[in-house]
Amino acid sequence: MAFARAMPKLHLITYGCQMNEYDSERVAGLLRDERYELTERADDADLILLNTCAIREKAEDKVYSQLGELKRMKAARPELLIGVMGCMAQLQRGRIQERAPHVDLVFGSPAIARVGELVARVRAERRPLLETGEGPLVKITARPAGASPLKAFVTVMEGCEKHCTFCVVPTTRGRERSHAPAVILDEIRGLVAGGCREVTLLGQTVNAYGRDLDPATDLAALLEQVDAIEGLARIRFTTSNPYNLTDRLIRAIRDVPKVVEYLHLPLQSGSDRVLARMNRGYTRARYLELIGELRATVPDLALSTDLIVGFPGETEDDFAETVTAVREIAYDNVFAFRYSARPGTPAAGMPDQVPEPVKARRLNELLAVAQAVGAERSAALEGRVLPVLVDGVSRRNAGEVTGRTRCNRVVNFAPEGRDLHGDVVDVRITQALPHSLRGELAAAPPRPAGMG
Ligand code: SAM
Repeated sequence: MAFARAMPKLHLITYGCQMNEYDSERVAGLLRDERYELTERADDADLILLNTCAIREKAEDKVYSQLGELKRMKAARPELLIGVMGCMAQLQRGRIQERAPHVDLVFGSPAIARVGELVARVRAERRPLLETGEGPLVKITARPAGASPLKAFVTVMEGCEKHCTFCVVPTTRGRERSHAPAVILDEIRGLVAGGCREVTLLGQTVNAYGRDLDPATDLAALLEQVDAIEGLARIRFTTSNPYNLTDRLIRAIRDVPKVVEYLHLPLQSGSDRVLARMNRGYTRARYLELIGELRATVPDLALSTDLIVGFPGETEDDFAETVTAVREIAYDNVFAFRYSARPGTPAAGMPDQVPEPVKARRLNELLAVAQAVGAERSAALEGRVLPVLVDGVSRRNAGEVTGRTRCNRVVNFAPEGRDLHGDVVDVRITQALPHSLRGELAAAPPRPAGMG
């Protein structure tokens, strides 16, 4: 009697940005084609892959400490395969297996499309494999089993050529390369056919999309094409660089119906001196000018940003300029980081590195200001009726549902006995809390299909 062999099991651990989440999904999809089944449990897996981040040292420390834990598992089960993929793999290359010799496989982002072949090789040969060379840009559309999620990420371009002096992305993700619109649209149509209602178009510098294509195109044109996909309700995109923010894109945020009124626009610092040393390619005045244009064109726009404190040479005065910028711009949300010296970047070798306790104090001060500013923006939403895309059950109260406004705020409210999952409904905001809004279903006429 013949028995079917059990499928080998894959456990994936993902660190870092949304692009990594997207890549992990692709890897799960590609390995499903090789008959690997996903498992939530590391101790149940035949293959454990860590999809890593290298943007700050702390992100790398987390991976090494995870690898330390996996060492014991590998000692108990030597047949277990352990792989490290993604940005840290691309940056650290051979150093990962030097420091953690129990790692069987290391591969960078360009090799993701070949994950099936790499895993098969390491399984057959049983010796460490390192694959961190350049590779062609391949759009991988494989996905894990099951229906599409309600909200999905779609990578539209990879890499970055901005060469900010603090950043490893040009090393880890290579130069800017865009996927063709037809391939992106096909992927989104497939997602929508499976029930997806919202896509987030991803790129390290997403608003530089299309410059490298022949014929060249831009993000505004892509947004219009995605907008035409029936059944899709919302389009987000991230991350935009101020340097590439065009009038055309600003108008697209206003005019393309499914594009939400939300923009993540990293400022990094409010000081011209620091911006110049970061090689950001804009001044504080230019950034404020862009914000003025954005607010004049899209009055309801919610803005978020990334900021770095303690960049080499940042003085108290420089830091104070970042704080005043946050107040002046009134961001809805701020992501602030302590500067972390990254190998091979110009800033790592700059004089006047800022001591860690100073960075920590500045970060706390900045976050306190950002929180107060964000709370004011939230409070201003009280009493308004906003369309909410319902995407789950409230974490605090199983009798309530949760969803997001177009400006990306979480809203919890009672569904009044209706099954609203995946619907866009009008909700009256009744209370702004520190991390979410409370609301109640508004008795509004139904919105036209596909909008919201
Ligand atoms: N490409 C985008 C841009 O710069 O406009 C952002 C990509 S990056 C993955 C996300 C954020 O991490 C950056 O905007 C920056 O604030 C922060 N970051 C990057 N390198 C850093 C470093 N060496 N130390 C601290 N934060 C860093």
